[in-house]
Amino acid sequence: MRFGASETNCRSCQQLYPASDLDRYLWCPACQKAVRKRGAIWGVVVGLLASLGVATYVWLNLTLQSRFLAFYLLMLAMTYLLTSRIAHAIVHGYYRSRGGMIEPSSPQEPK
Ligand SMILES: [Zn+2]
Repeated sequence: MRFGASETNCRSCQQLYPASDLDRYLWCPACQKAVRKRGAIWGVVVGLLASLGVATYVWLNLTLQSRFLAFYLLMLAMTYLLTSRIAHAIVHGYYRSRGGMIEPSSPQEPK
């Protein structure tokens, strides 16, 4: 919904903003920041859970040797980095493609 050429509704929160403040998905800076924060939170959670899973697997199935300690720690760090980035990207893309974070957009049903 447009009210003149210079102001446009944010697709996520539906507040009016100058069109120059919105990004190419028509999201305001506050909603962009919120979706990045939510993606980061999910990234941390998924990264920690995946690292915990790998650590448990290593603890239960491998014979821990102190000379490989750096390898084990590097493996946990890489697991955390990769899975948290993947989860962040998935959550970010999910909310962006859904069109909003506050409540799902309600497109008109074709009749
Ligand atoms: Zn917004």
